[in-house]
Parts: sequence; structure tokens; C-alpha cells
Amino acid sequence: MTQTIVLATHNNHKLQEARFILSPLGFNIIGGNDVHLPDIEETGLTFEDNARLKAIAGFKALKQPVMADDSGLCIEAMDNQPGVFSARFAEKHGGYPAVFDVINETLKDNPNRHAFYVCVIALALSETEVYTFTGYMHGTLAHFASGSGGFGYDPLFIPEGMETTLGHIPADVKNRLSHRFKALKQVYDFLNTHPHLFKDL
Ligand code: IMP
Repeated sequence: MTQTIVLATHNNHKLQEARFILSPLGFNIIGGNDVHLPDIEETGLTFEDNARLKAIAGFKALKQPVMADDSGLCIEAMDNQPGVFSARFAEKHGGYPAVFDVINETLKDNPNRHAFYVCVIALALSETEVYTFTGYMHGTLAHFASGSGGFGYDPLFIPEGMETTLGHIPADVKNRLSHRFKALKQVYDFLNTHPHLFKDL
């Protein structure tokens, strides 16, 4: 029988990405729009807390396996902020691109421009059996935002080994480097090696 996993998101792009990676294993991935999922506030102080609380709330509501993610940008010279507050930080500072100026004014001429994206995915197989997977994408912050590709902080972020910001990098290339891809790849490896966990669900 095909096993279904709900991805607790209303973001169609995330759903497509998860389907692309996990469907070859025979899993049917459905999104939050296809089932009635409560909206859960991200009250955690870590990516893992937020991903876990969303996945567990989803499992409680649906009584079936639920995956949820949380992600953000950590800037080393800003004590790894905005981190879990990435969306709220941007909003507070006037959205994109206004927030890029705030970051550059904060960093001034600090030579440490290292930053990294983090994505944590939590997979709840019951209210207490929860597995988490973490992916990173490291890079540096440009002095000037450029490019219109990607979303969020991408026009400021130059991935390690690249010459230009994610704003100029095609989606299919980003999708193979990204923190989300790396976390999903770990979910793939886990599901591939632990099929027995789904036998009794
Ligand atoms: P969420 O986990 O999808 O809610 O993302 C939280 C926030 O982190 C987004 O609103 C962005 O500010 C930032 N973020 C996460 N992933 C990316 C990315 O791949 N590119 C740019 N910004 C990102």
C-alpha cells in the first residue's frame, strides 16, 4: 500500500520539491491545503523546536505521519541572527529589499560576511516519535543585493563556490545546493533505510 505523508505547508513550491525527492520511494506526499491542518504559531526559539511543534500538532490533528519544516538565514557576525526570526526580521525592517540595507549597515566594514541558511525538517510518526533532519547552505553576504531570482534573502546571498548571488542562479541549480534539498535528501535516506517504521501505521 502507498504510504501517505502530509507536508504541513501551504507553499506549493515546497510541496513540489518534497514530491520530486520522495515520490521515487513510493511515498505519496500531500500538502496542508489537501487536509484540514490547524495554523500553528512558530513560538520556538530554534528551527528544530518550530519544525517539531508544527509536525506534532499536525499529527495530533490528523493521526497520520506529518512532516514540517522551519528555515532561515543565520549571519555569523550578527550572532547568527535573524535565524528563526528571518521572516519577522524582514517584515520589521520594511521587507525585501529594505532589510538588505539594514544588514549591510549592521555589518559595516566587518570582514566576516559569512552566513548560512538552515532548514530543519521534522517527521512525526506519532505524538512522541519525531525524527529531525537538518540541511545547511553556507555562503557570504554581498555588499550590494542583485538579481531577481529566488526569494527572501537570496539577492544578498552568494553560495560557497559561486561568484554571484542566488538572485542570479537558476532555480534548478539552487534546488540542488539548498538547505531544504539537503534536509530532504536526509529524509529520503531515512525513509529508504527505515521502511519498517511505516509497517504498523
Ligand atoms: P520558512 O521556514 O519557509 O517560514 O522561511 C522562513 C524565512 O527564512 C523566509 O521567510 C526567508 O526570510 C528565510 N528563508 C528561508 N529559506 C530561504 C531561501 O532559500 N532563500 C531566501 N530566504 C530564505
